[in-house]
Amino acid sequence: MMHEVFEKLRDLQDVLSKKFDIDRDMKEIPKILTTKTELLNRLKKSYIEKNDDLQRKKERIKEIRHKMQEAERNREHSEQQMDVIKTQREYEALDKEIKIAKEKEEDSRKLLQKEEKNLEELAAQLEREENLIKKQEEEIKNENNRIKHELKEKGKLLKTLEKEEEKITPGLDEEILFKFERIIKSKAGVGIVPIHSGICTGCHMILPAQFANEVRSGESILFCPHCSRILFFQEDEEMPGEFEPIYSSHDDEEDEVFDDE
Ligand SMILES: [Zn+2]
Repeated sequence: MMHEVFEKLRDLQDVLSKKFDIDRDMKEIPKILTTKTELLNRLKKSYIEKNDDLQRKKERIKEIRHKMQEAERNREHSEQQMDVIKTQREYEALDKEIKIAKEKEEDSRKLLQKEEKNLEELAAQLEREENLIKKQEEEIKNENNRIKHELKEKGKLLKTLEKEEEKITPGLDEEILFKFERIIKSKAGVGIVPIHSGICTGCHMILPAQFANEVRSGESILFCPHCSRILFFQEDEEMPGEFEPIYSSHDDEEDEVFDDE
């Protein structure tokens, strides 16, 4: 009778550990997108900032061009005046004005060239970033589709496993099932282990002799007092001295999983 229960539990363990693995995967898979989305947001932010900068530079160029034209007009006006001057003094004053206007014109022209070059570089940079954004968006779209597909497949697999689970669980004690699920979840998929020479093969701790005898008798479902796994006895595998007992009782493995009890 108990032998059958242990067999069912072992079958259930296979199904449950697969189920939990898939569950974990399904939670992890979408996280791949987080990093890519964060990168995209950073790119977009940088693009907006640079684009604002580009607009400011354009405005500045307009201003410089305006000043240059003004200086040009002043120079032309002064040059025309040259034809009508009467005195040396007037000539000198006008000549000075022309020189100043020419200098201003020249300064503005140099500044304009510099600013236009900057603008050109920034525009090229913006174009590169725009392409990068498009590429990243495309990548995210593809990744999203891939993830959707993968989650759908995993979902199907999960359904199949749930059906298998439904076939195994009838007749098993609800409380045992509840505990068993939790052990498998917390003990990396292993919730039922055989004992060897009075030692739990799950955590390698020595079991009290009386307790080991109870396991051996196979009359009830017993949980390892150290790692909480269900224990069973396998006659053909019982080989004295095969396992080295470990006496220290505190590593992660030994944490009690039934903290609500
Ligand atoms: Zn144990």
